[in-house]
Amino acid sequence: MPLDPKRTVAELKELRALTGDENGAQRVAFTPTWTKARAWLQKRIEVTNGLETHNDAAGNFWATLHGKSDKALLIGGHIDSVPNGGWLDGCLNTLGGVEILRRIHSQYKGKPPVTVRLVDWADEEGARFGKSLLGSSACSGKIDMRETRKLRDKDGVRLVDALKEHGIDFEKVKDSGEELKNAAAYIELHIEQGPVLLDLDLPLGVVLGTFGVERHTITFRGQAAHSGSTPMNRRRDAFLAAAKMSPEIYEIAKRSNGGVCTIGSCTTKPGIVTSVVEECRITLDQRHLDANALQRMLNEAKTASEKFARDGNVDVAWERLWNIEPILFNNELIKFCGEAIADAGAKPHRLPSGPLHDAAEVARAGVPTVMMFVQSLRGISHNKIEDTKEEHLELAVTAFDKLADKAMDWVA
Ligand SMILES: [Zn+2]
Repeated sequence: MPLDPKRTVAELKELRALTGDENGAQRVAFTPTWTKARAWLQKRIEVTNGLETHNDAAGNFWATLHGKSDKALLIGGHIDSVPNGGWLDGCLNTLGGVEILRRIHSQYKGKPPVTVRLVDWADEEGARFGKSLLGSSACSGKIDMRETRKLRDKDGVRLVDALKEHGIDFEKVKDSGEELKNAAAYIELHIEQGPVLLDLDLPLGVVLGTFGVERHTITFRGQAAHSGSTPMNRRRDAFLAAAKMSPEIYEIAKRSNGGVCTIGSCTTKPGIVTSVVEECRITLDQRHLDANALQRMLNEAKTASEKFARDGNVDVAWERLWNIEPILFNNELIKFCGEAIADAGAKPHRLPSGPLHDAAEVARAGVPTVMMFVQSLRGISHNKIEDTKEEHLELAVTAFDKLADKAMDWVA
């Protein structure tokens, strides 16, 4: 049974029909529709005889094709989606992996030189409880148990209870880490979710790693004053200082060579039409693949905020909301990924990933990792209009299969 990328596209459509509606994909983790998707996946796997399957302590689904060596190549994806999500985010990875498992199983008559495992991570999206990468961060051991234990969904249901309903004891989720015992390489295919490959008119990309992130709130404090009686030269306008940050972060990003900065929120107090702004709070999200460059972007933003505060006679205070270091993928696997794309007849373009992915958690756990991206039409994801040309989906499965072969040889 040779690789059949068209079958992957057909299965993606079948899954869409089974678990989507007119608003898009509805496979939110730990909901009945997700359970249905998982049961459907299990059936797809079962037709390939001799694969051992189980759920681990964190609810990640594993299908294992035991090889001559216990050393394992892992292929990962996530069948969960955001509400009203797209038809490819996550499940392309999983179903592409299923097809590759079938091909390897058939080529080696059920006994490949190394063990090959498919993992469908639980709750990559964090759509219900606000915690992304739940299953993979449990597996990597990096999950923050204290923070995660407290989470509830919008109806007040505790994450801990939702997990229990699916047979998962939250206190034991880190036991899933034993799944990585023999992991020698991890590969993941994903839609790009951005416009870079589209703008270059290229179908496939080699992902170098995931951006490091610095996320802060910046609060400027001046003085509320009557908007009619206060001359312009007497104001301590917190909004004026904060507003100057907006063009500045574009300059900072431009100088950083590849980084991105976003002011995603701005709130003012007292926030009425007749008062100078006393307090202006903005959020800043900065991302870069290079740790030093990320640090430089942060320092530059701090320096700029202090200058704008001085100029406007207001105060400024910073508070870190969250940060993560850049996670770089394995150089050898990056090389194989480029070769696989070239072998499939496309031009390999190297790019970083802005969003985090399960692959980042696996890399953090010390397993050599790489991702392959396939172009997203319109550069849009987490939306029912998310799409990729079918010929690109097929090419992605073909190239990803070649990467799997190269990675297997390497592991062996
Ligand atoms: Zn995804």
